[in-house]
Amino acid sequence: MDSDAQDRFNEECAVVGVYGHAEAANLAYLALYALQHRGQESSGIVSSRGDALITHRGLGLVADIFRPEIIQRLVGTAAIGHNRYGTHGESLLKNAQPLVVEYSGGALGVAHNGNIVDADEVRAELEEGGAIFQSNSDTEVVIHLIAQASGERLVDKVIKALRKIRGAYSMVFLSKDQLIAARDPMGFRPLVLGRVKDAWVVVSETCALDLMNAEYVREVEPGEVLVISEDGLESLKPFPEAPHRQCVFEYVYFARPDSRVFGRTVYSVRHELGRQLARESHVEADLVTPVPDSGVPAALGYAEEAGIPYQLGLIRNHYVGRTFIEPTDSIRHFGVRVKLNAMPELMKGKRVVVVDDSLIRGTTSQKIVAMLRGAGASEVHMRICSPPTISPCYYGIDTPTREELVGSSHSIEQIREFIGADSLAYLTEQGLYAFQPPDEDRNFCDACFTARYPIPVTEAPEPRQLHLFDASQAKV
Ligand code: SF4
Repeated sequence: MDSDAQDRFNEECAVVGVYGHAEAANLAYLALYALQHRGQESSGIVSSRGDALITHRGLGLVADIFRPEIIQRLVGTAAIGHNRYGTHGESLLKNAQPLVVEYSGGALGVAHNGNIVDADEVRAELEEGGAIFQSNSDTEVVIHLIAQASGERLVDKVIKALRKIRGAYSMVFLSKDQLIAARDPMGFRPLVLGRVKDAWVVVSETCALDLMNAEYVREVEPGEVLVISEDGLESLKPFPEAPHRQCVFEYVYFARPDSRVFGRTVYSVRHELGRQLARESHVEADLVTPVPDSGVPAALGYAEEAGIPYQLGLIRNHYVGRTFIEPTDSIRHFGVRVKLNAMPELMKGKRVVVVDDSLIRGTTSQKIVAMLRGAGASEVHMRICSPPTISPCYYGIDTPTREELVGSSHSIEQIREFIGADSLAYLTEQGLYAFQPPDEDRNFCDACFTARYPIPVTEAPEPRQLHLFDASQAKV
């Protein structure tokens, strides 16, 4: 993986399900294409032709894996699909999803976005009972639980299996004659329901509905299980009520800005958070520039609120994939310039505010500050549109270890010094919720910023105070 990707939180997966459409696999393909940002390591589609499931999975990007002849082979009116960002389990084809198994109830395909927190314990119990695992994926744990569960209908077995696990999941299941979608009771990861004429679709984000030409119906609610078959759509709420804890990092970075997630448009949330950042940490400057692309809406909001001109001072090369091989030591100084390049015409002699969505290890920020200075900026003020990331995620997001998160062990002043900026400020924990009215319940997980884990994890430390912006620290 390239160093830029290591300096991010990375979304682990996207899921899609289609039921009742003559070109189900094609629709699934379009959805996966739109959801490529949620996982680039592998992708797969399983379709049902009524009497059997047909599978194709591969390593790489959606457009490279699904050539037209492959889509044609995936016949049937129902399909599920998955993009994977491989971390829990190695990034091998055997861990690519959807997983497909034959069990006493027939063939079953499963695709999962999230992370089962107690997968290792449940897996050990299953292995003691004689279960043999084919992959390292926590999703396979769910499959074994389903295979062992009693119940008349598939959905009964699925519900029994899900009751035995704890964690974050938005999942789709495909048998030869039905599609089942489930979202965990706390609702960590997004999942929405849509329609394409008479067909039902479920997808991770609404940007996929747009490409499928589907109509948005509603979110799959936390703790809801949908059964879609020739009998229509059935909604079940089989789990005890739990506080909702939707991932606030979807707003900060993961989701596409054109998606509607947890009832809000991601773009407008980021824009509002940028405004809040300007209110909290204003600095005299000549221009505001985003770290593209994820920092763009926040930088626009910041510039508007601060009354400072907005300029695209950093240009991203969109054609650099994650598989970019870093040059050898002798030419390593190219660094982040492979992906980003600064505009000297805009920077020369200017006091620049540069806005990014988050700061994880700090190595990319360090390179960006050096690049802006190299392009002639007289001052560089880094503004981060989220609080310091102090704790890893255990709910389906690839994060560096706690030691690698610079915010976990360094003060803001130490980080400022490390990245070489004239000033550094983060959004406060309170400011992170500037997108909602003050009296609205905070139904969000923010554990990576607060270490307050909604589902306990053994490695979790005591919650700690966040470092807030202190204007006196700013060297201007
Ligand atoms: S810990 Fe962070 S990334 Fe993980 S679910 Fe919670 S808010 Fe999202």
